[in-house]
Amino acid sequence: MKKYLIIRCARCGLPQYVPSNQTTRKCPGCNYQMQVHKALVVKETDDLAAAQTLVKYLKLPESQRDALWDEIAARKREKDFS
Ligand SMILES: [Zn+2]
Repeated sequence: MKKYLIIRCARCGLPQYVPSNQTTRKCPGCNYQMQVHKALVVKETDDLAAAQTLVKYLKLPESQRDALWDEIAARKREKDFS
């Protein structure tokens, strides 16, 4: 199964996700060429949607994070009851 790593750029700290089989990644924030195995891994998941959501979450200022959680919870409820 394909896995994704949520990592932070070693230079600017920008959160981003990368397929776990990828070895290098250029940070979209500062153009730093990272070695994925050396990057700080925040989380590992096999769910692409979860990886995308977590990156979105990590990029938000703390004051806006609650709103995103509400959105996620609402979506989850929709899925559970459909
Ligand atoms: Zn960077």
